[in-house]
Formats: sequence, C-alpha cells, structure tokens
Amino acid sequence: MSVVLMFGGQMPVIKVGRMAGQFAKPRSDPFEEKDGVKLPSYKGDNINGDAFDEKSRLPDPQRLIRAYCQSAATLNLLRAFATGGYAAMQRVTEWNLDFVEHSEQGDRYQELAHRVDEALGFMAAAGLTMDHPIMSSTEFWTSHECLLLPYEQALTREDSTSGLFYDCSAHMLWVGERTRQLDGAHVEFLRGVANPLGIKVSQKMDPKELVNIIEILNPMNKPGRITVIVRMGAENMRVKLAHLIRAVRGAGQIVTWVCDPMHGNTIKAPCGLKTRAFDAILAEVRAFFDVHEHEGSHPGGVHLEMTGQNVTECIGGSRTVTYDDLSSRYHTHCDPRLNASQSLELAFIIAERLRKRRIGTQRLLSLSM
Ligand code: PEP
Repeated sequence: MSVVLMFGGQMPVIKVGRMAGQFAKPRSDPFEEKDGVKLPSYKGDNINGDAFDEKSRLPDPQRLIRAYCQSAATLNLLRAFATGGYAAMQRVTEWNLDFVEHSEQGDRYQELAHRVDEALGFMAAAGLTMDHPIMSSTEFWTSHECLLLPYEQALTREDSTSGLFYDCSAHMLWVGERTRQLDGAHVEFLRGVANPLGIKVSQKMDPKELVNIIEILNPMNKPGRITVIVRMGAENMRVKLAHLIRAVRGAGQIVTWVCDPMHGNTIKAPCGLKTRAFDAILAEVRAFFDVHEHEGSHPGGVHLEMTGQNVTECIGGSRTVTYDDLSSRYHTHCDPRLNASQSLELAFIIAERLRKRRIGTQRLLSLSM
C-alpha cells in the first residue's frame, strides 16, 4: 500500500502499524448476552478469551506476559523484514502478492511495480547509487491504543540521557474515543510520556474540548507530537470536521490530521456479524479530503484496520464481498478488517486523490509566482 501511495501520490509515506501490541479492546458494552446467558464481554487477548463461556471470559494475568512475548517476537520479525534486504525497493516486483493474484488489484499493483522498477533502472543508469539505506531498507513504526494502563505503565522507562519517560510498548500511542476524558487516567498517563500521541475523535467531540485535550497533551506545541484521528462517518465529517480544524488552527496548535474511516462505519449484517461497507469507508475518506481542501489544511494520513489475507469481514470492493459471503472467511474476534484486495483498491484511490491535490497545489504555486 505504501508503494502505491508513495509512487502514485508522489510523496513520502510514514508507515505506522496497528501491531506488536494491539491486544486490548475498548468495548461499548461491558456484557454480552446470548440465549439468556450474560457474560463479561471479550476485552482483547491480553485480558480474556473470545469463546462464550465463563472460564474464557475470566481475566487471566498470564495473558499479559503472552501479549508481551508475542509483541516482542512480532517486532523482531518486523525489524528483520524492514532491514534485512527484503524491503529493498529493487525487489518491489518480487514482494509476495499471493493474496491478490489473478485479481484486478493484483494486476494494477504489478503494473505499478514495473513502473517503479523502470524508474529505479533509469536512476541507476544515470549514476544514482542504489545502495543507500533509503533504497535498501524501510522504516516501520508500531502503535496501539493506550488502554490497559497497568501494562503500559509496566513498560514505561526513563531515558537517562534526557530524563524523559517513554512508554516502550509502542512507538506511538493513542487515547481512544471512550477513554479521552480530560480528567481521566488515560490522558493523565499520556501527558507524562514523550512518545508521539494520537487522539481519537468522533462526532461527539466539541471543538473547545479538542483544543483543551491537545493543550494538556502538548503544552509546548511540539510539531509531530499530536495526531488527531477523526472517525465519524462521511456525513458527520462533512458537518463537524471544519469546526474542529478551525478551533485548532485558531488556538495556534500544530497537529497532524488523520482519517480513520473504520470505526465510525461499523454496522451489523443481517446474519448478526459486525461489518463495514467499503463504500462507506471510501465516502468518509473522500469527505476528509474534501473538507481539508475547502479549509486549506492538510489531510495527513489514513488509519485503517486491514490484513494482507483474503478475509471476508468488510462488504463491497471491486471483488465484491456480499453479506452472504461474510461468514466464509470471517476470522476477526472483534473488528472487521479490509482484506488485501480492498486495502490495495483504497490505496490506489487515495494515491490518485493525492496526485490530483499535488498537481492542484503546483498549479496554485505557479499561479502565485
Ligand atoms: C480502535 O481504533 O481500535 C478503536 C476502538 O477506536 P475508537 O476508540 O476510535 O472507537
């Protein structure tokens, strides 16, 4: 996806994965009821189990240790892939794309990869060196919601050279829509660590409250510290986002705006499974770009739930997943994810939008020169 965005949109892409620590789940309902039986909700693999029985739903502290070991192993793997030669740009055509083989998105990707390959060949012929680390490795950061405070606290360390505290469970942490109370423990904890932070924001967020939370978390207004992740569905986005942007700008606060088109678009399918519609996701991304264009602000990124596997958890996309298909490869315990083909399709659409935006900006620049 990042190659598509970088080459198609012609701009650098910072890759931050919801992985190596994304285990705790905020739940709207503390209980789940089935056939008259009421049990505590599943709260994520580092707390309890997903199976609907009393034993699984009991919190088990050993799960914290397993979550830590799993995260450490995942980080090792990420490091190996990112720096071990596999991520070298020259291998762009070899990256394993089994998951979208013989599909429209797979063909589009292969075509783009060949164009990247040609561009690299030209650069090499012109004498530009290919062994620079930028060409032979990649940077990949990790992130998750700072939800389970005892876990986060246990992994927090003081940097003895700067005296700053870092929560080492991830590079970037975010405070969720359900835990972002100004006087709550999560905001208080995050105020004290120097990691880059995200703030999840739904249509319920009041512009003044957003300014206040940013002020608490970033009193020195340090650029890069705060990412505001808006997730409110396309309709709300078109009405509410401009007010948030104006309030933040009016307060002189520097933030990165990111769109999470997943969490404001969860619906229940007729079969009872939670799902998200590709069209609704796309509509929210489009609304995000439109509002920023109108406000003259910068649409800084997208926050997705996705997998490289061929799951059937979100409906729609060009290789259409229907309500009837959902149960065939529905592997998530909690949040429906875009599959490989849907993710690539979205990346191509966003890249196109970025490219148009860049050309528009260049035109504006040349007009104003
Ligand atoms: C999430 O990103 O996993 C999540 C639950 O988001 P939100 O807090 O925005 O609902």
